Amino acid sequence: MPSDQASIASRTPEGGFACQECSSPLIQPVEWICTGADELTVLVRCPECFQMRTLRVTQDQAHLFQNMLDEATHSFHETADMLDRQVFKESCQSFVRALRADNICPMDF
Ligand SMILES: [Zn+2]
Repeated sequence: MPSDQASIASRTPEGGFACQECSSPLIQPVEWICTGADELTVLVRCPECFQMRTLRVTQDQAHLFQNMLDEATHSFHETADMLDRQVFKESCQSFVRALRADNICPMDF
């Protein structure tokens, strides 16, 4: 484990990384650089306070970070799909209500 990691990165109780400035667990990697046999330097950006930081992580920590990002991406896509379906459903329901109320005119298209 890199010796100066504690002074560079804050850790969450789950083993992830957090913004050193605001403690947000939402930090996002901007750039990964391999700096040793078992060490990477990761430039991260906090979406909440917009700070940029450099993290030094081991390969295992990088894999953990990547897995957390993959899970967050998957969750984000699931939420976006759910919202997309909900918006489509509500649009269809509004269109049906308008059809039933005879509020659809040729100029609506
Ligand atoms: Zn922050």
